[in-house]
Amino acid sequence: MTNESTGPFREVGTDEAIALAREGHRVIDVREQSEWDAGHVAGATLVPLGEVVERIREIAPDPEAPLLLHCAVGGRSGRAAGWLAELGYTNLVSLRAPITQWKERGGGWEEPVQLLSPQQQRRYARQVLIPEIGQEGQRTLLDGKVLLIGAGGLGSPVALYLAASGIGTIGLVDDDVVDESNLQRQILHGADRIGMRKVDSAELTLRGINPETTVVKHVERLGPDNVERLIADYDVIVDGTDNFDTRYVLNDAAVRLRKPVVHGSIYRWDGQVTTFVPFEGPCYRCMYPTQPPAELAPACSVAGVLGVLPGIAGVLQANEVFKLLLGVGDTLSGRLLMFDAMGTTFDEVRIWRDPACPACGASVAPSVTSERPAQPAAV
Ligand SMILES: [Zn+2]
Repeated sequence: MTNESTGPFREVGTDEAIALAREGHRVIDVREQSEWDAGHVAGATLVPLGEVVERIREIAPDPEAPLLLHCAVGGRSGRAAGWLAELGYTNLVSLRAPITQWKERGGGWEEPVQLLSPQQQRRYARQVLIPEIGQEGQRTLLDGKVLLIGAGGLGSPVALYLAASGIGTIGLVDDDVVDESNLQRQILHGADRIGMRKVDSAELTLRGINPETTVVKHVERLGPDNVERLIADYDVIVDGTDNFDTRYVLNDAAVRLRKPVVHGSIYRWDGQVTTFVPFEGPCYRCMYPTQPPAELAPACSVAGVLGVLPGIAGVLQANEVFKLLLGVGDTLSGRLLMFDAMGTTFDEVRIWRDPACPACGASVAPSVTSERPAQPAAV
């Protein structure tokens, strides 16, 4: 196994190369990343030909260490071996055979786990390109389960974007039917769906956008008796309800089961969005310790709402869902984002965990140390 007899490096066939690798030759793959991604020698190091000269010192500092270079058939690795010999490397072998033989003849081989099918790679190509998502992130989204409380104004844009982006399971809690007065803002539903259950209409729309998304229909109203059962199987809850009773019930159960809730509310020209992450940030009760009187919380049916308002708030909610599932970025946990459509302004106020909160405070989690500052919480 000397080089001297044949020049600066030796060319070998597949069987000998496999044997040398087993005996301790360091395997350097000089192909391109895309070739490597399709499968490569187990334990090999990828150094594309164009980077070999520049990187070899850092990868193999000892010029006497035994190196086995290979590419697809032996051309590129032969050139690389020649360059390394000029750099003073003395123990070089180049594989002169199709690398496909390596696997066929029992050499160690690694193939990447295919996280996405070819169809999924095409469908989600634009977001797989984003470094913070990639195939792994897309896989996470496809495995994600998100529950929407309400398939109305806020639930519509949230559901549309979650389905389009490949959230695997979308649960919808709604026992209402589509009414003509909903159509001005509840864009999951159309004029041909009046009288249909909202969950059925939503399922039709979402299936059209993305047949891969599983829609789970919960035809019921969220309340103290069913809340834990409804939310237990989901990763993230999106609150699109329009009454305070439901919000407190949802909050307390979500804190108990440690489910993040993305909160949205709308009123005429104003929208608010925040995210509650149990025991990491404030909860709904930290923000609103006591339930406001009903006349301060009129439903859309009483107060009216601009059609785009739930669109804007809902898309912001969907954005929160993606970050929560992917574990990237900064969520709105601890921040209440307020949108004024009349002036087209966004404002933000800090909201704090309340150590006295009956849902998530010190009596429940003794480790709570955050103190409410002198300035009042936003309401
Ligand atoms: Zn709380």
